[in-house]
Amino acid sequence: MRVLTEKDIKLNQLKQYQSLSLRGKVRLTEMRIHEWHEAFEGMVYIAISGADSCCMADIIWKLYPNTPAVFADTGNELDSVRANIDEMIRCGRPIEIVYPKMSFDDVVKKYGYPVVSKKVSDYVNRVRRTKSDQVKRRHLLGQNADGSPSPMSKIPNKWQKLIDAPFDVTNKCCGILKCKPTGEYAKRTGRKAFVGTMADESFTRLNSYLNHGGCNAFDQKDQCSRPIMFWLGQDVMEYARENFVRLPRAYAEEESPNYWVFQREQEDGTWRYCGDQRTGCKFCLFGIHLEKGENRIQRLARVEPDSYRHCIEGLRYDVVMDELGVEWKPVREEERIIFKKLIDEAGRRYDGELLTHGCASEAHNDTDEALKTTED
Ligand code: SF4
Repeated sequence: MRVLTEKDIKLNQLKQYQSLSLRGKVRLTEMRIHEWHEAFEGMVYIAISGADSCCMADIIWKLYPNTPAVFADTGNELDSVRANIDEMIRCGRPIEIVYPKMSFDDVVKKYGYPVVSKKVSDYVNRVRRTKSDQVKRRHLLGQNADGSPSPMSKIPNKWQKLIDAPFDVTNKCCGILKCKPTGEYAKRTGRKAFVGTMADESFTRLNSYLNHGGCNAFDQKDQCSRPIMFWLGQDVMEYARENFVRLPRAYAEEESPNYWVFQREQEDGTWRYCGDQRTGCKFCLFGIHLEKGENRIQRLARVEPDSYRHCIEGLRYDVVMDELGVEWKPVREEERIIFKKLIDEAGRRYDGELLTHGCASEAHNDTDEALKTTED
């Protein structure tokens, strides 16, 4: 019989927590919040942005109404996300807005585009910059120096074409636009963060839960509490419905003037937001290849036409998304007509010139230095 490791036990415990009712999960979340708040004698803050962190903040503010929150305005937010934060501030919520030193456009021009995933962007970047055959073997063939297999280090075959793309890609964008400004706030105030992430969202987050003390990561370099780590996406939706949590309009659809519907029950009993399912940065290309139906860039043509024009014309997303094999032309005929000239000219305008200049290793080394304490 196999002896259970500490990680196995934690994983089993996580599964039990994930199967609790929403009421049970809220009670457990409250316990984790109390633990964190007491451990740092109230010197804590909330990192706030989308639906998950808004629900987490709602629970924290019911227990500790004066807990400050921080919103990192990347300059790449949907208008409705920023409007939601402004409205919360008007209603008296203690939210401070922090800003990065670089704009998203400058990050793209200097370092490249955030595409596919942090991991794939990182590996592609390394191969583009390295002279080492060993690094190339690791990321192109998935082999260690001694020839043993290292499949997790391999760039999937599908994405190896990015190594020769006419633009660079980067995994540093979040660090520059989000982590650094928030990290500076934490340093300035000495406060420790509450973050609304969930283990269910990614392998990295699951691993972080299993390896760093569950919800309250006291042993992590950047200590933080993740009090809804054992929640699932459906729990957040249920909590938002039951507690009338204020969410950005991007999640909703306007049914009639002044009447917005945020969620609808599906045939299988699960719920979906009527609008965007997530409200990350509007120009982010991480994970866009996995979106079904109208993707976030196509949606911009409908909800923020100026932003759509900017990313196609100014940032050349037509070239980048063609390379990714992801559609960028609007779904609906109405927007295809509005943007006809831009669509027609897109192919003709591109002459094969490099879109970014991020291949210079000095640029990446500068960022490595600047981000020393900010990577999540
Ligand atoms: S979510 Fe995407 S666009 Fe936004 S900061 Fe992170 S990598 Fe950049």
